[in-house]
Amino acid sequence: MYERGVAQWSRALAAREVSAVELAKLYLGRIEKQRGLNAFLDVRPEVTLAQAAAADAARARGEVTPLTGVPVAHKDVFVTRDFASTASSKMLEGYMSPFDAGIVENMARAGMVTLGKLNCDEFAMGSSNENSAYGNVGNPWDSAAVPGGSSGGSAAAVAARLAPAATATDTGGSIREPAAFTGITGIKPTYGRASRFGLIAFASSLDQAGLMTQTAEDAALIFNAMLGFDARDSTSIDRAGEDYTRELGRSVKGLTIGVPREFFGGGLKSDVEAPVRAALAEYQRMGARLIDISLPNAELGIPVYYVVAPAECSSNLSRFDGVRYGHRAREYSDLIDMIKKSRAQGFGPEPRRRILIGTYVLSHGYYDAYYLKAQKVRRLIADEFSRAFKECDLIAGPVTTSVAFNYGEKAADPVAMYLSDLYTIPGSLAGLPCMSLPCGFGTGGRPVGLQLMANHFDEARLLGAAHQFQLATDWHARLPRGID
Ligand code: GLN
Repeated sequence: MYERGVAQWSRALAAREVSAVELAKLYLGRIEKQRGLNAFLDVRPEVTLAQAAAADAARARGEVTPLTGVPVAHKDVFVTRDFASTASSKMLEGYMSPFDAGIVENMARAGMVTLGKLNCDEFAMGSSNENSAYGNVGNPWDSAAVPGGSSGGSAAAVAARLAPAATATDTGGSIREPAAFTGITGIKPTYGRASRFGLIAFASSLDQAGLMTQTAEDAALIFNAMLGFDARDSTSIDRAGEDYTRELGRSVKGLTIGVPREFFGGGLKSDVEAPVRAALAEYQRMGARLIDISLPNAELGIPVYYVVAPAECSSNLSRFDGVRYGHRAREYSDLIDMIKKSRAQGFGPEPRRRILIGTYVLSHGYYDAYYLKAQKVRRLIADEFSRAFKECDLIAGPVTTSVAFNYGEKAADPVAMYLSDLYTIPGSLAGLPCMSLPCGFGTGGRPVGLQLMANHFDEARLLGAAHQFQLATDWHARLPRGID
């Protein structure tokens, strides 16, 4: 039963084949059994079962949405009233928020049941989940491999079928990279489409909430409830709601897919390139037209991102001062000493590194040379995408240069780790809706992802094209061994 996804559970719940409480128990049992993966940071069965009972009662009263009773788990960067919210940092250990994040609220309003909170890299900084203060997360496909990051817990939970869906965030690739590394479907919407209210901020001009699911159809169903304007987020876009499932049935015949040649350069490993090329050929077989495009500035994405993201994080993380919330040092001599000690004790090495870089690039004398320059190149990258979308409907390529790497392989070398996001950062800098779809396996039987990107607000098209691929292939339905 646990193999089922959101759409399948939605139908089973509607047909009364299963109740929300039964479903919650099924997943709570699986979470308990797979504790070794360390995907979950906080599970409170009494909260989950109460929500499930409320969903069953709502259904009995006839107050239903397609998601009533469907379970979901949340990345620990979304604040929740009923579960601790730590962003995987010691800084926020045990922190209970007085309110729910905007998207958590939207999903609860649609009747979804929360299974718990998911491990991630500290403050969503990382590509392997090795930066969590609460330990590594297992990749269900291979115990030596990282699950990717920063949404590693979300990815592992969906891949091991501990939840039919999980929320995640993308700042530079944290949905697509772990989705690719664990053989599941990941999507980030257009920047401004998902509320950032209650999303513990890392880099505000980039952070965007999205989903990890088994299929594009599952993500489309949840997007209908999750996305929309939120006046409490100043960058939320006030635009009419839409039905994200509306293009699922649309054929890809006549669709033009741009294939950026820069995404198939020297860095790309052949065991990733082969399945990605095969997926592109599958689109061609289904009637899409592939065209060669160029995104010459995309490779500048990494240097740009590692100026912009640390700059914004140094500002966002200044709120953790030991005064308002979060960790406070036990012993200190005066106020300044208290702030210093609290921050030194609360933040792990990666946030500290980024706060230092960010403070440096924003400082007087360096601002023009680094931050301003980075913003200009960011604009060039975004413009390049806009030009490309005049010629094509979607852009496709690999998500990562390699399959999931091993624990420890890049942990000591931050630059090697940062390069993991070579193909995902450009789409994040441009604020585009982007996906990762399972498209095969590489060395060691580790999963490979196909990246699809669309123009702003073209989520429905993107999901439709992804769904058509999933009707024609079964990569998304493959299960890791040993998870039952
Ligand atoms: N891996 C990138 C980083 O470390 C992206 C993280 C993210 O998207 N949250 O910043």
